[in-house]
Amino acid sequence: VAWYATSSLRTFYLEKTRADLKARAILVAAIATNDLSPEKWSRLDSLAKKLGSGTSTRITVMLAPGKVIADSASDPSAMTDHSNRPEVRSALQGKVGHSTRHSYTLQRNMMYVAVPLKQNGRVVGVVRTSTPVTFLRHTLRGHYLEILGAVFIVALIAAGVSFLISRRLAGTIEEMKRGAERFAAGDLLYRIGGGPSEEMSGLAEAMNRMAEQLHERLLTITRQRNELEAMLSGMVEAVIVFDTDEHIIRLNRAAEKLFHVSAEEIRGRALQEAIRNSDLQRFVKRTLGGGGPEEGDLAIPGQTSRFLQAHGSIVRNGHDRLIGAVVVLNDVTRLKTLETIRKDFVANVSHELRTPVTTIKGFLETLREGAIDDPENAERFMNIAIKHTDRLSMIIEDLLSLSRIEEESEKGKILLEPGARRDVIKAVERECHDAAADKNITLESQCDDSVVVRINPTLFEQALVNLVDNALKYSEPGKTVQLNASRSNGDVVVEVRDQGCGIAEEHLPRIFERFYCVDKGRSREIGGTGLGLAIVKHIVIAHGGKISVESTPGKGTTFFIRLPEA
Ligand code: ADP
Repeated sequence: VAWYATSSLRTFYLEKTRADLKARAILVAAIATNDLSPEKWSRLDSLAKKLGSGTSTRITVMLAPGKVIADSASDPSAMTDHSNRPEVRSALQGKVGHSTRHSYTLQRNMMYVAVPLKQNGRVVGVVRTSTPVTFLRHTLRGHYLEILGAVFIVALIAAGVSFLISRRLAGTIEEMKRGAERFAAGDLLYRIGGGPSEEMSGLAEAMNRMAEQLHERLLTITRQRNELEAMLSGMVEAVIVFDTDEHIIRLNRAAEKLFHVSAEEIRGRALQEAIRNSDLQRFVKRTLGGGGPEEGDLAIPGQTSRFLQAHGSIVRNGHDRLIGAVVVLNDVTRLKTLETIRKDFVANVSHELRTPVTTIKGFLETLREGAIDDPENAERFMNIAIKHTDRLSMIIEDLLSLSRIEEESEKGKILLEPGARRDVIKAVERECHDAAADKNITLESQCDDSVVVRINPTLFEQALVNLVDNALKYSEPGKTVQLNASRSNGDVVVEVRDQGCGIAEEHLPRIFERFYCVDKGRSREIGGTGLGLAIVKHIVIAHGGKISVESTPGKGTTFFIRLPEA
């Protein structure tokens, strides 16, 4: 704008000056037309000088083609022919000529305008007016300075306004940046303030909405994850999730316990290095390789081997692409053990029953084949058969009693009564008294009145009789068997202590199993079935107690029954 204004101004001034010069030239030409004869030249020259000084214009009058006859600024006679000047040339052709150039006469830049002097339609001379253009420069410079000043002020105002606007904008953008950083850091409840403009407010609002939605989605994801976590950790089954490269993605608490690993440590690691179990590795490979659910049996070898039933299924993402597998492991060790116990039990029962039945059958056949006629042998054979029949009935009696106790205990049918238990201890002592006396063994018992416990007197008496009976059976004559009941650390402890042959350490963990005998021959000889301690153990369990044994071979054995005090 400044450039345009200045150049317009300059053009305007030049045009105006040129028009002024032309007007003056025309006026002078009107006066000069009548003074062109040589005798009037001096008058014309003085007139030119007078008019020129009064109007700050140089006035030159010349005859065609170029002789100067009057000049306001110098002596016309000293001046050269002016016909070669461009403005004069134009005027001589009847037109108005003009030119701006340096004047050698006046030594400055001048604007010249020349008009033709006509007489009878013929160009007889030229009137030229001129004025220095330096004054123009001065005038224009003043205007230029004003414009520059205005430009400067406008620029200053514009800069100030721009600065204020940009500062407000930058402040809003800074606030949005801060907000975005807070969102990124997880503070999704933070809210960005509205901006100064509609667009900024809209952007802030959109960002706030985004944060709100993110917050809601995060809450949903967290809730779902917590539910999943709770479900997984509450599961008894071990659950392990793998990716397609057999790397562990996650596992639940049951799996950590089963394989003695920590989820934190093995997450993301390859199965081969995280859990060294070839069965599991094979099963995972099979699951990832096959299309459908897989089932299999795995074993974890070790001191306490564990048997697992595995279910594996593959996991696909939303685009039906295989992304891994889930393996659920069921610990069936207990079931397996129970199965083994059941099988062993059937084998044991059959074996225990077969021996007396075979013996009885053998003697009966011998009798039928003639031995019956030999009264002496017949009597002996029949006594042996009766003895084996007694054993048969004893085994059956014990088995029935065991299964009855187990069943009643499971159904909670065993009635426990609280009370002082001196009477029970005394009853056991009375019951075993004769057997002890027969073997010349001293039977001692001790029980405080303060011992109060919840028991089923009949069953508990049966258990104690079994223990005392064993103590008597495995003790030599002259020894002592003690039956004590006392309180200890909030429990009631019943001890049956003997000074008999004792039990070797390797047998101790097994003596409570059904049909387990340390020495089968000896046990049978003294009328044992191998079921006595199993019955005792079940009675104690039915009372919510625990049974344990300590024994030193050659020195004696002590059985401890620990029951919660009533
Ligand atoms: P049994 O009817 O053969 O005695 P039990 O179940 O009562 O069967 O006992 C299992 C085994 O434990 C017996 O064969 C015997 O070797 C051992 N035993 C039990 N009590 C004693 C004891 N007081 N002293 C030494 N050995 C014992």
